Amino acid sequence: MYQLEENRVIEEIRKRGSKRVLLQMPEGLKPIGFRLAKLLEKDTGAEVFISGDPCYGACDLALMPKKAIEADLLVHVGHAEIPGEFPDEEVLYVEARAGVPIDEPMLKAVEMLEKEHVIGLASNVQHISQLDHARKILEDHGKAVLIGRPSGWLKYPGQVLGCDYGSLRAIAEKVDAIVVLSGGDFHAIGIPLATGKRTIVVDPFQRTARDMTEVCKRLLRKRWISITKFKDAKKVGIIVGLKSSQMNVSLARRIKQLLEENGYFAVLLCANEVIPESIESFTDLEAFVEISCPRISTDDQERYRKPILNPEEVMIALGKKRWEDYTKGMTLEEWH
Ligand code: SF4
Repeated sequence: MYQLEENRVIEEIRKRGSKRVLLQMPEGLKPIGFRLAKLLEKDTGAEVFISGDPCYGACDLALMPKKAIEADLLVHVGHAEIPGEFPDEEVLYVEARAGVPIDEPMLKAVEMLEKEHVIGLASNVQHISQLDHARKILEDHGKAVLIGRPSGWLKYPGQVLGCDYGSLRAIAEKVDAIVVLSGGDFHAIGIPLATGKRTIVVDPFQRTARDMTEVCKRLLRKRWISITKFKDAKKVGIIVGLKSSQMNVSLARRIKQLLEENGYFAVLLCANEVIPESIESFTDLEAFVEISCPRISTDDQERYRKPILNPEEVMIALGKKRWEDYTKGMTLEEWH
């Protein structure tokens, strides 16, 4: 189902003369960990470790574990590199492109786009090489298609991450709707928020096409409740995530200062994993700000008993950003 480029990985390990390799992959790819590790051991002679920690993105390179076990190469599976990040580290990226057919769910998406003519097209990295085929299907059905250039953390035209929709923002004003190739809702759910456009997620694994509008509305209602509750808190923990590309101490300091100027008492926390089990033991704290992956607050709030906001949402709570800007011009009533 996934292209793991085993031959390229073996060649690279041999070429670099790596003696100890750390394999890192997200949960969804861990089932292939054993097979890949045994193959690399057999064909390269290198000692192979598999990281047992969770892994969420290329923002989360296992550089500390690599150092701890003295590996000379990190093989990071399942994500594209973030351009310009850690050029001096010995990291090999294996994007794990999916080879699942897209025709059936793409045709379902076409049926849902009767009224829209100009379509913005995007994909997570697993399906990025299928964008041209998706474009052809749309064009064969009379649609005009735009694919945005990469910027920020994005490597490929049309690529999206759960925290970076720069390729779509660049074309949002010119399109009537957006189609994104992606398994699950994770990458798609942020698109209406980033662009204000109707978004259809084409899921090649489920062979479905789904409109994200209602899902996004539900999410926004929950965010409104969390932001409102945050305003009633006084003692706030600001959590600095320690993952390789997420850490932003200066932003945490700025938010602490802003909160204190607005009558809150704030402390700085740091954590490698932002999970309820660890932070909710700070029973004095009434709310949290997470400066790590912005999707923790939006997607995982239900796991936390106390409000947890990302920096953008803190700005809304403090009245420094309008809710309508967060929701691309729609009022709360329109989202209800
Ligand atoms: S910060 Fe979150 S959304 Fe962005 S790449 Fe990392 S895990 Fe994905």
